[in-house]
Amino acid sequence: MKKITVAKGDGIGPEIMNATLSIIMAAGAEIEIDEISVGEQVYLSGNTSGIAKSSWDVIRENKVFLKAPITTPQGGGYKSLNVSTRKFLGLYANVRPCTSLYPFVRTKHPIMDVVVVRENEEDLYAGIEHQQTDEVVQCLKLISRPGCEKIVRYAFEYAKQYGRKKVTCFTKDNIMKQTDGLFHNVFDEVAKEYPEIENEHWIVDIGAAKLADTPEAFDVIVMPNLYGDILSDVAAQIAGSVGLAGSANIGEECAMFEAIHGSAPLIAGQNIANPSGLLQGAIMMLNHIGQPLVAEKIQNAWLKTIEEGIHTFDIYKEGNSRKKVGTSEFARAVIANLDHQPSLLNVVSYTGSTALVLPKYKRKPALKKELVGVDIFLHWTGNSPDELAEKVKILETDHIKLSMITNRGIKVWPEGFSETFCTDHWRCRFKPLEGKLLTKQDIIELLFYANSNQLDTIKTENLYTFDEKLGFSLGQGQ
Ligand code: NAD
Repeated sequence: MKKITVAKGDGIGPEIMNATLSIIMAAGAEIEIDEISVGEQVYLSGNTSGIAKSSWDVIRENKVFLKAPITTPQGGGYKSLNVSTRKFLGLYANVRPCTSLYPFVRTKHPIMDVVVVRENEEDLYAGIEHQQTDEVVQCLKLISRPGCEKIVRYAFEYAKQYGRKKVTCFTKDNIMKQTDGLFHNVFDEVAKEYPEIENEHWIVDIGAAKLADTPEAFDVIVMPNLYGDILSDVAAQIAGSVGLAGSANIGEECAMFEAIHGSAPLIAGQNIANPSGLLQGAIMMLNHIGQPLVAEKIQNAWLKTIEEGIHTFDIYKEGNSRKKVGTSEFARAVIANLDHQPSLLNVVSYTGSTALVLPKYKRKPALKKELVGVDIFLHWTGNSPDELAEKVKILETDHIKLSMITNRGIKVWPEGFSETFCTDHWRCRFKPLEGKLLTKQDIIELLFYANSNQLDTIKTENLYTFDEKLGFSLGQGQ
C-alpha cells in the first residue's frame, strides 16, 4: 500500500479528482490517500504561496503528489504554486505524452504519438530579472550541465523503458551558442550511451513547425524549459485537446502528477468537465509507484470508453460521438470497462514500468578557468558610439584596452553602421593586450575610474576561457 498526497484543488478540481480516484480505486490501485488543501482558499486566507507549511511536510513525507488544478487569484503578490512545487521539490523532468485518438476524437493528425520531455527547473524560468536602464530590462537564462544531463538522460531512459525508438532534441543553439549549445552538446554526449535509440537535433523554430505539421515524424522530444512549456501545449492541442493530456513532474526524491489544463472556473460545479487529463496524470503516477498492471487496466478501459463514443461535452461531436455524458457518468463508464480493451486504438501494455532511477549527477573535474576580459555595461543616453568610445577609452591602462562596444548585442564600435538603432544600454568589452594578464583587481580599478569619470556602470560580466575554450559569445558582427 503506497501512501500518496492528494489535493482536490479549485474550480473543476474536486469533480475531476473524485472521478479519477473512483476509477483508480475501482481498478485496484493499492494506495492510501493523505488529503491536503492548496490553492485559492489558502491564498485568500493570506498565505501568498497557496500552501501551508504543514502541507509541505505531508508532500515531502509521502513523496508522491496527485494534484488537481488550482486557481491563482488575480492581482499581485500571489506566487505560482506550480512553479514553487516544481522548484522546491527538484522536479526536473516534465513528461507529457500526447497521443491522438483518431477517429474517435477530432484531430488533423491521425497517427500522432509524441512524448514531450521538458526541462522543468532552469532556463528563463529562474525568474532572475532586472531593469538596468530607463529603456532596458533583462532576464537571465541559466542552463547548467547537471540540469542538461539529468533531463537528457531522463528522456533516453524513458524511451528505453517505454520501447520508444527515437529521441529528438530541440534547441536554438545557432543563436544561443553557450546556453542552448550546452544543452545540445550534452544531448550528443548522452545519446552515445544509447546506441539502440535513434537521435536527432532540430533548431526549435523549424522543429516546432514540423511538429505542428507532421507530428508522426516524432517520438520522444526533449527540450529546455521555455520551448517545452510552449510546445507541450501545442502537441497536446493538435493531438485532440489540452483537456485530454496529463503530465508528470519527476524529481530524484519526489514526483507530482496532474492534468495540463487549469481549474476551468466557468464550468465548475456542473458535473460536465472531462476528467481524462487528471486520469492520465494518475495513470503515470501508478506506473511511477510500480503498479503498472493497474495503470494499463485503466488506460485500456479509458481507450475503450473513448472508442465507444462516450464523451464529455468538450470532445463530443455529433456523428462521431454516441453519448454525451457528465464527469461522474464518464467515470462510471470507464469503471464498467475495466476488464475490456479497445478494438481499434492500440492496446497498451506497461509491463515492467516503474519509477526511472537515474544515476546521481557526479561533478566533473574542474576545468582550467582563465580570466581573459571583462564586459562593463553602461547606462548612457548619447547616440554616437564613437563619442562613447572616446569617453570610455579614458579607462584604458598600459595593458588593458577597449576592444568593442555593442548595443543589444550588435557591435557598434569600432566600425559600426549608422543605421543600427541604439538604446541607452551599452556593453564595453575590455581585454588585456596579447600575452598580458587581467586580474580581478584590474576590473575593480576599471570600475573605480569609471565611477570617478561619471560613467554609469550597471553591471559587469567576466570573460573566461575554460580549458582554453571561449566561455562567452562574440559581439554580433564581430
Ligand atoms: P483552463 O485550462 O482552466 O481553461 C481553458 C479552457 O479549457 C476553458 O474553456 C475551460 O472550460 C476548458 N477546459 C479546461 N479543462 C477542461 C476539462 N477538464 N473539461 C472540459 N473543458 C475544460 O485555463 P484558464 O481559463 O486560462 O485558467 C483558469 C484558472 O486555472 C486560472 O486561475 C489559472 O491560473 C489556473 N491554472 C491552473 C493550472 C494548474 O493548476 N496546473 C494550470 C493552468 C491554469
